[in-house]
Parts: sequence; structure tokens; C-alpha cells
Amino acid sequence: MDIPGIEVRPLKTMTGHAEFNETFFTNVRVPVDQIVGQRGQGWFVANATLGHERGMLGDPDALENRLQALIGLMQQESIGEGRAIDNAVLRDRLVALQAEVTAMKCNGMRILSNSLKGEPGGMAKLIVKLQSCEVAHQISALAIDAMGEMGILYHRSPRERDGGAWQWNYMFQLGLIIGGGTAQIQKNIIAERGLEMPREPKLARISDEAKGAAGMQTDRQGAA
Ligand SMILES: Cc1cc2nc3c(=O)[nH]c(=O)nc-3n(C[C@H](O)[C@H](O)[C@H](O)COP(=O)(O)OP(=O)(O)OC[C@H]3O[C@@H](n4cnc5c(N)ncnc54)[C@H](O)[C@@H]3O)c2cc1C
Repeated sequence: MDIPGIEVRPLKTMTGHAEFNETFFTNVRVPVDQIVGQRGQGWFVANATLGHERGMLGDPDALENRLQALIGLMQQESIGEGRAIDNAVLRDRLVALQAEVTAMKCNGMRILSNSLKGEPGGMAKLIVKLQSCEVAHQISALAIDAMGEMGILYHRSPRERDGGAWQWNYMFQLGLIIGGGTAQIQKNIIAERGLEMPREPKLARISDEAKGAAGMQTDRQGAA
């Protein structure tokens, strides 16, 4: 990262903080002893890194912790006369999320079992990032709704709960649905690699004849 030409610029998100950066490489030359893996295999390295990132973002134990914290919050918060956890609509959402978290924990155990047996993760591994990031965001959304009017407080308000952590999570977790491969890209991966559905159509190629007629450079000329 100290090599000349590398510039790191912080990116401020809607949380008000800069948790990650954009990195510019201007005429950067990487010394041979600092190449990760083999020269020309950067895509392989990037994909391996993404695989770890997606697994880490979808940690089912972290989901379980958030759910338990949410249950504690809903036992304390009141909506009208009663506790938030006794509100039929909020409770319905909570139980649906509890089922999702339980399913993700079972899925995590399936991945672990496959790994111990030396078998590939298969479909169980492909769904982790998509499903867990969506559920994590919905847990924070329910917490904010359970706080009622206090839910919209953020940043240095004496009435905010848990130091504004629920609001911070709600905003940051929206980004995690995008980062590391968007939800739509995850669905493409599940469809193509998991369900073996037809690959996403590529842009139609324009024939050399049509290009010539339109006065465009043909593939043959480009190759020359
Ligand atoms: C919180 C956060 C942290 C991040 N951290 C990092 C980091 O540390 N390092 C890093 O390099 N990057 C990081 N990113 C960037 C992240 O990887 C990209 O934002 C992400 O890959 C999406 O790329 P894009 O923003 O260019 O969107 P685009 O690729 O332009 O996509 C725009 C929209 O079109 C959809 N789309 C695009 N192609 C297809 C397709 N083929 N099929 C269906 N839908 C499609 C996408 O799903 C999306 O909704 C981070 C982003 C966020 C939000």
C-alpha cells in the first residue's frame, strides 16, 4: 500500500461515517515479490477473497445474536399501553425472522458438515450472503419500528437506544446487501451455478457485414 501511485480516499456513507474507501491505482508497478498467487491469476485471487467475504457477511451466529438483542429490546419497548413484543403485528414479524435465523443456522451446520466430509458447499454455500444480509437488515428494521417514534432518533440524542446502534445497523446493512456482490448478482449465481439454469444472455454480437454496412470497424480489422 506504500507503493507510489496508490491513493486511498475514504467514502462517507449515510451512517455519517467513512468505514471503507475507494482506492486509485495510477501507473502502479507491483514488485514481483509482492504478487499474490501467480501473475495473470488476479481474478482467481479476487474470487477466493469474495468467497470468504460472502461467508463472513452471512455468519449465522451473528444473526442469532442480533435476534436475541432484538427480543430483549422488544420486551423493554412499549407501543401504546403494552410491550412491543406483545403487539400482534410486530410479534408476527419477529417470529417470521426467528424462523429465517433458525433456517440459516441449520444451513450453516450443513456447510460445516460438508466441509468436514471434504465435500463442496454446493447450494447451501451459495445462498448464505443473499439470505443473511437481507435478514440482518430486516432485524434492524423491526427494531426501529418497535421503538416507535424514538426509532428515527440517531446520533447524540439523549433518548436514543443502545447508542444508536440499531439505526447505524439499519443504514449500514443496506450497503452490505450491495457490497461483496449485489443481491441480484447473488441470484444470478444461485440460478446459474446452483440450479444450473441457462446462463444470463450475453449482448448480441453484430456481424462484420452489418458493421461494414454501418461504417463501423469490423472484428477482423480490429484484430489486425
Ligand atoms: C458497504 C459497501 C462496502 C463495499 N466495500 C467494498 C470494498 O471493500 N472493496 C471493493 O472493491 N468494493 C466495495 N464495495 C463496492 C461493491 O463491491 C459494489 O458496490 C458492488 O459490487 C456493486 O457494483 P456497482 O456499485 O458498480 O453496481 P453495478 O454493478 O453498476 O450494479 C447496479 C445495479 O444493477 C444490478 N446489476 C448489475 N449487473 C447485473 C446483472 N448481470 N444481472 C442482474 N442485475 C445486475 C446490480 O445488482 C445493482 O442493483 C462496497 C460497497 C458497499 C455498498
